[in-house]
Parts: sequence; structure tokens; C-alpha cells
Amino acid sequence: MGKIILTGDRPTGKLHVGHYVGSLRRRVELQNSGEYEKIFIMIADAQALTDNADDPEKIRQNIIEVALDYLACGLDPEKSTLFIQSQVPELTELTFYYMNLVTVSRLQRNPTVKSEIQMRNFEASIPVGFFCYPISQASDITAFKATTVPVGEDQLPMLEQTKEIVRKFNSVYGETLVEPDILLPENEACLRLPGTDGKAKMSKSLGNCIYLSEEPAEIKKKVMSMFTDPDHIKIEDPGKLEGNTVFTYLDAFSRPEHFAEFLPDYANLDELKAHYQRGGLGDVKVKKFLNNVLQAELAPIQNRRKEYEKDIEYVYHILEEGSKAAREVAAKTLDEVKAAMKINYFEDKELIAAHVKRFQG
Ligand code: ATP
Ligand code: MG
Repeated sequence: MGKIILTGDRPTGKLHVGHYVGSLRRRVELQNSGEYEKIFIMIADAQALTDNADDPEKIRQNIIEVALDYLACGLDPEKSTLFIQSQVPELTELTFYYMNLVTVSRLQRNPTVKSEIQMRNFEASIPVGFFCYPISQASDITAFKATTVPVGEDQLPMLEQTKEIVRKFNSVYGETLVEPDILLPENEACLRLPGTDGKAKMSKSLGNCIYLSEEPAEIKKKVMSMFTDPDHIKIEDPGKLEGNTVFTYLDAFSRPEHFAEFLPDYANLDELKAHYQRGGLGDVKVKKFLNNVLQAELAPIQNRRKEYEKDIEYVYHILEEGSKAAREVAAKTLDEVKAAMKINYFEDKELIAAHVKRFQG
């Protein structure tokens, strides 16, 4: 069996550079590697509604933004199926059956959900749908028989939950579902890119993002006011790298050729870091370099986005076709799931024959 990818994003805002280094950049590489039989990229609107139930308009407006960001980054509808979660109702049906295989206490232990509950002030009253979204994610992954899920580190608990559901399902109902593997970024800084405020994670919901489609002047403003080392006051002071967001971003984005182009006094990031730690290197110089790196990385993405923005109907067409194609695949898996659970009454001729015998002799 070939390798299959499923991954996606919630349409709660435009995509940001955290998404890019955490998952998007890798997806495009994997897409173009030719090593994957099928690639499914999902805009998770149903999941986004689990914590935005009172604001469906936000979700509705952001689907096109996420789709444009996908195409801008190089996801190619000829090679990858781009689709909208809610347009594949089979996923909801799978979720309902998987719910029976998970306990409430297991869901309560999920550390990502725990911190998201805190972030959203849901402690007093958690929407049931939100609490169950790890189960819905298991449906998304297994519906496409995904072998590989390229995502950021915050998704580790979701993949663990999915694996458990797959094992449980297969042991109770017989070998049906495929156990997926998570594919995390290789570069540590990309696992969970911090926000510009230095907080743990850049996140649409926290407003600490640099968006892929952000205007160059705005990116520069955000970079120049980024969190660094609060004790690095004078240029001659030695600086700390730990928790220094500017250096984390350089870890995630900079390559040796950026030094040759924008900061030729240093051969690579190690040299720049060593100088910062010794003292004598000011934050402004490092931030200016980071700004140049980010602008260089984002310029081709932004240019491609502008091209797609000229033909929005075509982008919707891509999503519609992708959703149809995704639905066919998910429907096939759902049929297999129902057959395994023996809830396929009308296809089960043996069952009907046995009942004929029972009641008609
Ligand atoms: P929300 O605040 O609505 O949850 P988000 O910014 O966390 O939005 P998601 O749509 O939840 O974004 O995440 C989509 C993908 O991007 C996931 O694979 C996730 O692991 C990855 N990702 C999100 N934020 C980061 C980050 N700061 N660093 C690395 N990867 C990230
Ligand atoms: Mg998230």
C-alpha cells in the first residue's frame, strides 16, 4: 500500500509563519517529492466551529483565506486534494461511532485540549463538541487511511488519540483502519514557533502572529518590536539565546545564503549567535536581518497569492472538486467501518436470510 497524507488547518484566520514552518513548508516538499500516493489537505471548518459556534461568519470568511494561503505556498490541486471538512459528512458519522471507543477521562488527559480550554476560558463550561474534537480528528485521519500526518508538535496528543482509536476499533471489530504516523518538523524551532510576544505558541487565537499575507511594512513593524532578551539592554551586554524569539525565528527561517546576501560579516547563524552571547551585537541589527530573511522567504508566496486572488471563483471550484473527491474516499471507508461493525443491514444478505428463516420457518 502507498503512503497517504492527511493534514489541515482551522479556518479561524489567515495562515501565519508558525503554520508555514510547522507544517505547510513540509507539505509542499512532500507533495513535490512524488513519494505519496495521495495527499489530502483539509480546511477544518467543522472543528473550528467547536469553539466558534457563535461566530460562523468568521469561519465562513476565512475558508477562502486559508485556501489562498495554501495555493500561495505551492500546494497544487493537481497533486493534492484540497477540501472542506463540513462538505464530507461521512467524517461526522465516523466520529459518532468512534466516540464509543473513548472515555471522558481519556479526553480530559489530552494536554493540548487542556491548554486550549484554559486559553479560551472554557474552564467553567466546555462545549461538548470542542471536548470531543480529538475524536473528530481521528475520523479525519482514518477516513483517508492516512499513513502520515505532517503537523506541529501541538498535534502529538491528537495522533496518540487516533492511534488508540484505531487499535481499539481493529481489535473489537476486525482489521479495518490504518494507524497513522505523525511527521514533526526536523528543526526544533519549527515544532512550536512562539508568537512575536515570546509566548509559547504563535496562534491565530492569541493575536501574536505574522501572517503569510501580511504587508511588508507591517512585517517589519512586528519584527522590530519582537520579544528578545529583556536583560540585553546595552549593545555591549552579553545576550541570552534561550527564550529569545528573534533567534528562534532565525533558527526556523535563516539559511547560509541569507547571510551571504544580507549579513556578509557572518558566515552563518552560529557565528551570529556567538557574537550576541559575547556581547557587542545589538538587537536592532539582528532584527533587521530577520526582517530581510522573512521578506525574502515570503515575497514569492505573496506574489503567487496575488495571482490567485484575481480568480476567486477558480479557487472555490478547486475546493468544490476536492470536496467531492474527498467525499468518495471517506464514503468508502465509512462503508468498511459499518460493515466491520455489522451495521450494514441491507447489504448483509446472510442476516436477512437468517431472519427470514427465523420468522418464516
Ligand atoms: P487556532 O488558534 O484557531 O487553533 P492555530 O494558529 O493553532 O489556530 P491550527 O489551524 O490549529 O492553527 O493549526 C494548523 C497546523 O499548524 C497544525 O499542524 C499545527 O500543529 C500547526 N501549527 C499551528 N501553530 C503552530 C506554531 N506556532 N508552530 C508550529 N506549528 C504550528
Ligand atoms: Mg490550533
